[in-house]
Amino acid sequence: MPELEAVIGLEVHAEILTRSKMFCGCSATFGAPPNTHTCPVCLGMPGVLPVVNRRAVEYAIRTALALHGTIAPVSRFARKNYFYPDLPKAYQISQYELPLSEHGHVAFVLAGTERRIGIRRVHLEEDTGKLVHAGIMEKAESSLVDYNRCGVPLMEIVSEPDLRTPEEAAEYLRTLRAILVYLEVCDGNMEEGSFRCDANVSVRPVGATELGVKVEVKNMNSFRNVQRALDYEIRRQARALRDGATLVQETRLWNADQEITLSMRSKEQAHDYRYFPDPDLVPLVVEPAWVDEIRRRLPELPEAKRRRFVEDYGLPEYDAGVLTATKELAEYYEACIRAQCDPKAVSNWVMVELLGRLNKDGKDIAQSPIPPERLAALLGLLAKGAISGKMAKEFFDEMYASDADPAEILKAKGGQITDAGELEAIVRAVIAKHAGPVAEYRKGKETALNFLVGQVMRATQGKANPKLVNELLAKALAP
Ligand code: ADP
Ligand code: MG
Ligand code: ZN
Repeated sequence: MPELEAVIGLEVHAEILTRSKMFCGCSATFGAPPNTHTCPVCLGMPGVLPVVNRRAVEYAIRTALALHGTIAPVSRFARKNYFYPDLPKAYQISQYELPLSEHGHVAFVLAGTERRIGIRRVHLEEDTGKLVHAGIMEKAESSLVDYNRCGVPLMEIVSEPDLRTPEEAAEYLRTLRAILVYLEVCDGNMEEGSFRCDANVSVRPVGATELGVKVEVKNMNSFRNVQRALDYEIRRQARALRDGATLVQETRLWNADQEITLSMRSKEQAHDYRYFPDPDLVPLVVEPAWVDEIRRRLPELPEAKRRRFVEDYGLPEYDAGVLTATKELAEYYEACIRAQCDPKAVSNWVMVELLGRLNKDGKDIAQSPIPPERLAALLGLLAKGAISGKMAKEFFDEMYASDADPAEILKAKGGQITDAGELEAIVRAVIAKHAGPVAEYRKGKETALNFLVGQVMRATQGKANPKLVNELLAKALAP
């Protein structure tokens, strides 16, 4: 049996952050009472006419450009026909034969290897409504439908089958999500369903050029679930092949409780959507000048920002990756740098102290109780020796818990003792009191000095400058 490799292609559905829906003026915001964001257009009443949301088209172009895709000067909306109660028209308006964008790619680095994943297409469509079942679906006595989401603008981003491992698939999703959030075209919220993913996966002998029979896995609502579902599915398919079974093309559902995938429908049961161009919508014509304007307004994207952080601030790749994970975090970091300019020190404090604390409290950077200017002021005190590293941590704790200013804390607590005269008396007292360690040090046991330094620090409640204490002790004990 030859060694097998997995082949994965992902279909991502991202809700576009517009105020109104794709083809009507209803609000597209999440969380309103059921069926309050509806009108005859999104409820599919006879005789209504859809009108394309210009902002949704703009955001999809913005996304396609950021993904290095081509923009079709003319694309078209089609009807995808199927019957389900969450779809009142009994068809979904989507782009089929002529999508808005093709031939893009996304790049990321995983375990030191640069990977570039092709984007087959980015197209526009509308979301469906949502069914709420009384109890579990199979046994529900009744189901309710909420049409608020029906008609919300959606982008479908389809990758080439270029991914090879579940880890790569998860990293691709993280990278794509970060780009969309940076572009402010999608909030990227997987739990609320504004960033969803179906995974296509097959296995084949390593070195084969033909694709194996694919399975489409649905119903994963986190990166972790995507990775686990793919792990499971790859093992299942590989085992089947080793056992001499034939795989069938099918759609399977991830069951997060049981951590398995279960068959939903085979190829024979697949829907025939009977796609045809929507006669109510004219072809979507995109002026090149508009595309140029959108391109000019593209923000700096995560990848470019990461590279700039390495080049401009001399940060290690790792730090740059962490600090550019979100736009807000990158902005926080750069606000610190503007006020206080040791980039690596700022990076350490933001990554270790601040993010550590925020993570523990389940907060993100926007909720930091310490504004960047204040963190910079603290690091300024540390850099000029007004406080020691240990004191800086204590100050940090106080700043995190209250809205105290580091300069005020310094005034209240007193700063680091850097006056040799003031410390000499304490040094002499410590030497007099600890004859044992003094004798050991004089006999050549260097580490005895640490004990003595510790005693001086203790006597000053940690305020003495440790470097100075070291020097004073070494001088006083010199033969
Ligand atoms: P469909 O028409 O069923 O949606 P497509 O050929 O359009 O199928 O591909 C949908 C997704 O599945 C794409 O992301 C593509 O990369 C991926 N894909 C296609 N064939 C395979 C395969 N044999 N194994 C894994 N992924 C595949
Ligand atoms: Mg598909
Ligand atoms: Zn509406």
